Amino acid sequence: MEVFKNWSGSMSFKPGQIIALESEEQLCELVKKATSEGKKVRVAGAGHSSSPLVHTKDYLLSLKHFRGVEDPDLKTKRATVPAGMTVKEAGKDLYRYGLAMHNTGDVDVQTLAGAIGTGTHGTGKELPNLSAMLYGLRMINGKGEIVEINRENDPETMQALQVSMGSCGIFLKMRLQLEPAYQLYRKEYCVSFKDCMQNFEELKKNRNFDFYWYPRTDLCKIRIMNTDKEKMPHISYGSPELEREGPSHEILPRSRDLKFDEMEYVLPQEKAMECFYEVRKQVKEKWRRTVAWRLLIRTIKKDDALISPMSGRESVTISLHHNAGLRFWDYFKAIEPLFLKYGGRPHWGKKHTLKAGTLKELYPHWDRFQKIRKKFDPESTFLTPYMNELFNFEK
Ligand SMILES: Cc1cc2nc3c(=O)[nH]c(=O)nc-3n(C[C@H](O)[C@H](O)[C@H](O)COP(=O)(O)OP(=O)(O)OC[C@H]3O[C@@H](n4cnc5c(N)ncnc54)[C@H](O)[C@@H]3O)c2cc1C
Repeated sequence: MEVFKNWSGSMSFKPGQIIALESEEQLCELVKKATSEGKKVRVAGAGHSSSPLVHTKDYLLSLKHFRGVEDPDLKTKRATVPAGMTVKEAGKDLYRYGLAMHNTGDVDVQTLAGAIGTGTHGTGKELPNLSAMLYGLRMINGKGEIVEINRENDPETMQALQVSMGSCGIFLKMRLQLEPAYQLYRKEYCVSFKDCMQNFEELKKNRNFDFYWYPRTDLCKIRIMNTDKEKMPHISYGSPELEREGPSHEILPRSRDLKFDEMEYVLPQEKAMECFYEVRKQVKEKWRRTVAWRLLIRTIKKDDALISPMSGRESVTISLHHNAGLRFWDYFKAIEPLFLKYGGRPHWGKKHTLKAGTLKELYPHWDRFQKIRKKFDPESTFLTPYMNELFNFEK
């Protein structure tokens, strides 16, 4: 049996079968077969989630054969992206048609379906997470039927499907609401912690802004991007580290050579910095010797997806990193209660310890989501034991 491993190597398992089918009909048949056998189906994107969302002992699917942007429309600014495409491939293809995504995460190697499925985000207080681009879907439900749906004909269902971690079905094609292709200017500076905090509100006004805090030196790296070169601020208090310009899909993501594990919580914007100060204090007091990695702080606009971590709240994220291969749980579990104290919601695709009981309290629309999910997957074909821990669904 083939082993499936995530990017950092912290999660591995042996699915019954890893299958990359080539047609929608074959996928529908497989879902029907699994449902009739009482087996589970999960879809894996690029394996960049480190929570066991795709863990299954039955069928693990790859949609790698489903690629190639379709039906670009400059008037509506929409295009269709098949679910096997990575963020990078989609970005390149869309650019050829004069279109672009409003943002990407810090890397672009995820599949777009996987990134949308967990509410993956970049940074920018006016920019929602990537799932907000989802205008419509062609997908397979738990009965093995093709379903087509969009924000105009069924907005509430789209709010449920938008961030649903493959629990409602298999995305085949995503119709995205995009922007005309645009250029970005990027600058990064090393600044003192004090300067970073003093200028935080001003820095947030840039289209994209985030910062790393380095516990060992107490320095910060600020990263700023704007579409208008004239709007790039002059940071007199920092030493410049990088300057780039180009099409958005080339400038937004970075590459990651060193592997790490990560816990990230999404906090309501008004409580986030108080939380960060408390986290910083604890990291300095207890973890500075053993954890060499930085923390990343980002801002994200709220959205209306039922269980998006940014649902209904202007948000700030705080993420902890630790070298892949080292013990990360002691560190993550020590800090996690601070995130919860300030109303944090975990990134669905990163390490966390929450189960349905706690999660339900964090999401006002939890029951609405579960009702829609059940309609899409009445026999729980997409609910593995881990997904059931998240949702606590009694059939
Ligand atoms: C180095 C690195 C950098 C990262 N940077 C960021 C970042 O900047 N911002 C951020 O928010 N996150 C970030 N992440 C997290 C990452 O974006 C998410 O975990 C994302 O979901 C991974 O996408 P994937 O293609 O690997 O999908 P997977 O992790 O394989 O799957 C994610 C979920 O999507 C579902 N899924 C995948 N394909 C389909 C489909 N066709 N139909 C239905 N469901 C599907 C899966 O079942 C699963 O539930 C990062 C992760 C790593 C390792």
